[in-house]
Amino acid sequence: MKRILVTGGAGFIGSHLCTRLINEGNDVICLDNFFTGSKDNVLHLIGNPRFELVRHDVINPFHAEVDEIYNLACPASPIHYQYNAIKTIKTSVMGAINMLGLAKRVNAKILQASTSEIYGDPEIHPQTESYWGNVNPIGVRSCYDEGKRCAETLFVDYHRQNGVRIKIVRIFNTYGPNMHPNDGRVVSNFIVQALKGEPITLYGEGTQTRSFQYVDDLVEGFIRLMATDDSVTGPVNIGNPNEFTIKELAQRVVKLTNSKSEFIYKDLPKDDPKQRQPNISLAKGLLGWEPKIQLEEGLTKTIEYFRNKIM
Ligand code: NAD
Ligand code: UDP
Repeated sequence: MKRILVTGGAGFIGSHLCTRLINEGNDVICLDNFFTGSKDNVLHLIGNPRFELVRHDVINPFHAEVDEIYNLACPASPIHYQYNAIKTIKTSVMGAINMLGLAKRVNAKILQASTSEIYGDPEIHPQTESYWGNVNPIGVRSCYDEGKRCAETLFVDYHRQNGVRIKIVRIFNTYGPNMHPNDGRVVSNFIVQALKGEPITLYGEGTQTRSFQYVDDLVEGFIRLMATDDSVTGPVNIGNPNEFTIKELAQRVVKLTNSKSEFIYKDLPKDDPKQRQPNISLAKGLLGWEPKIQLEEGLTKTIEYFRNKIM
């Protein structure tokens, strides 16, 4: 049994991670400021003596005796991270400094939830960890992209300078139950629109691509990476390499929900990456990991969740 801190633990991914860690017999401290997360996501864990929920903002220092830290605190949906861009970059950078400082003091292993946004609008395809990316430093997505890039730098420098045991995961588009109905990301938007019979909002022509991973596969990747020996730091891509256009995603969602929703086209947001697909050779070799849940199965589970939530 380990004592584990999960920042952003009441969010979409964090809530699945807390559940998995509790189910495996660990003590979990879930820390969240509830900006985009919700107590509802961890309601089933409240009352469990091995689970603690703490309202705290990672831009402020936090102290607890823990063995492992998963640092997930940060809004992840473009509309939410752009809502207060300065706060987003503070969360990534000051949150990383505070959690790395804690890891250093208590000699905990620490995993950073980084992102495929590190690669920006990528010029190489699929993306390997050795690619440095094509990121606009002054665009509307920069608060998130550059915040996460700076957090990676901090992780690696705390490792080099102070010997902190770090793990960096570059997460590719992940979806599943516990996404907020107003999250704004594409999978939840399309499912909610389809279930309500509202128009499906395709940004641009819907020809841009993404590769969608079901949340359980990601959590498995987190756990495997955390369990590696101290020489393994990452970054490691964790994502599902099956790539779809946004229009193909919309068509699948409409079919699986038996929806009568029509497509409407809206302006493509600024700096929206045109394509994205992970190269997962490193995760396969290092962790023996690959995604198990493909789009149709994952969408079906997620549609079921939203049907119960909003209908
Ligand atoms: P989410 O918005 O559901 O979860 C983020 C959580 O962090 C929320 O509970 C939120 O309230 C909390 N939070 C935000 N700012 C905070 C602060 N200052 N202090 C404390 N808590 C704070 O999003 P998610 O999809 O679960 O993302 C979790 C992590 O994974 C994020 O770091 C995100 O950048 C990363 N990530 C997610 C994806 C994806 O596709 N879901 C892709 C790449 C990276
Ligand atoms: N998108 C869309 N309609 C929506 C929401 C998003 O067409 O209602 C597009 C968006 O422009 C992007 C892709 O879907 O090209 C993925 O968007 P999301 O916000 O989910 O994630 P990210 O852009 O960060 O990968």
